[in-house]
Amino acid sequence: MENNITYTIQDIKKETENVFTLTLSYDGNLPLFKAGQFITVFFPETGHVEGKSYSISNIISPNSFTITIKSIGVFSNKLISLKAGDKLSASFPYGYFYTESDSSSLVLISGGIGIAPFKAMIQESLLKTPNRKIILFYSNKTQKDIIFKNEWGQLTEKYPETFKVNHYITQDYKNSNCVIPAQAGIQVLNTGFQIKFGMTTKDGRIPVADIIEQSKNLSDPEFFLCGTIPFVRDYWRGLKEGGVPEISIYTEAFF
Ligand SMILES: Cc1cc2nc3c(=O)[nH]c(=O)nc-3n(C[C@H](O)[C@H](O)[C@H](O)COP(=O)(O)OP(=O)(O)OC[C@H]3O[C@@H](n4cnc5c(N)ncnc54)[C@H](O)[C@@H]3O)c2cc1C
Repeated sequence: MENNITYTIQDIKKETENVFTLTLSYDGNLPLFKAGQFITVFFPETGHVEGKSYSISNIISPNSFTITIKSIGVFSNKLISLKAGDKLSASFPYGYFYTESDSSSLVLISGGIGIAPFKAMIQESLLKTPNRKIILFYSNKTQKDIIFKNEWGQLTEKYPETFKVNHYITQDYKNSNCVIPAQAGIQVLNTGFQIKFGMTTKDGRIPVADIIEQSKNLSDPEFFLCGTIPFVRDYWRGLKEGGVPEISIYTEAFF
C-alpha cells in the first residue's frame, strides 16, 4: 500500500441500471499513464486489505481519469456510493494491457463491464492515431446493459472509416424498448457499419469465426480480450485455435 495516493471524486454518472462512472482527479503530478491501465482502490474497512482493481475508462487530463464500476458486491457498492468531493485512497495507474505499436489494427473483444479499458483505448487511439483501424466486439445480456451505448453510436458516425462496433445481445434481442433498433439479423447502418443483434451461437456468445472473418483483412491485427476469467480463457483458446499467434493476444481478466 506504500504507493497509494488520495484522489478526489469530481463526478459520478449513472451509465446503466447497475453501472456507474466516477471521475477522479489527483492534486499533483501522476506518472505518465496509459489507456488500458488500472488502479487498485483501498477500502480496508471492507476486509479486503489488498484492495480491488478498476480499469481506467477515459483519460481526461494528465491528472484526471474515470473508472467505470458494475455494482456487484460490498466493495463495488461502496465505490459507487461515493459523492463529488469525497476522497478515495488508491494506487497510481499501472498494468500492461496496451499495445506498444502505433500502427497495428485493434480487435477488441469484451463482455459486460469488460468494456471499461476499451473505452479509454478506443478514445485514445481515435485521437492520437486516427488512421488505425479498430473493431469492437461487445457482448451483453440485454440491450439495456450496453455500457456507453450513445458514445458508440457517436464514435462510429464520427470515424466511419476506422471504428466499427459489433454488438451481440444474448437474451432480449426482440425487446423493442431500446435506442438501437431491435431485430434479429444484421442491420447495415448508413455509416456502413454492421450492428449484429441476437444470438448467433447457442449460448449467444460472440462467434470466434466472426472475429477471425472480420479481422482477416486488417493490417497487423492485435487482439485484446477483457471480461470474466471464463470469457477471457475461452476467447484466448478460440483465437489461438483459429490461427491467431499468441504474441498478438493481450488479456485482462476481471475477478
Ligand atoms: C485488472 C482488473 C481490472 C478490473 N477492472 C474493473 C472495472 O473496470 N470495473 C469493475 O466493475 N470491475 C473491475 N474489476 C473487478 C473488481 O476488481 C471487483 O472484483 C468487482 O468490483 C467485484 O468486487 P465486489 O467486492 O464488489 O464483489 P464480490 O463480493 O467480489 O462479488 C460479489 C458476487 O458477484 C460475483 N461476481 C464477481 N464479478 C462478477 C462479474 N463481473 N459479473 C457477474 N458477477 C460477478 C461473485 O462471484 C460474487 O458472487 C477488475 C478486476 C481486475 C483484476
